[in-house]
Amino acid sequence: MVDMVASRSARERKAGVEAGPLATVKIDVGADQQFVYKVSCTVCTAKGDRAWSTYRPGEDNGYMAAMDRWIFHLKEKHPDADAPCLVYLPEAQQRLHERRVARESGA
Ligand SMILES: [Zn+2]
Repeated sequence: MVDMVASRSARERKAGVEAGPLATVKIDVGADQQFVYKVSCTVCTAKGDRAWSTYRPGEDNGYMAAMDRWIFHLKEKHPDADAPCLVYLPEAQQRLHERRVARESGA
């Protein structure tokens, strides 16, 4: 599975750049050969609090879900932090809104 490994490390690098300097991004390959994205916060981990991290399986969906949660974590806990992914904040909020609407309508 050489291609899988190469693709994984490339995705990991790209995700790490987008998530910014406060994040550590790891991508595992799950039992079903899906990528599993794990984003951890280096600041919250270092403070000795319960380490913040989000863990989402799936290809692009998993990436987006993990990154959305990371964006919200940054805005909430580290409002002064800068990261390339913050340009996606409006889209992340839109997706959150759509998920809420879908849940409320019982879809
Ligand atoms: Zn944090």
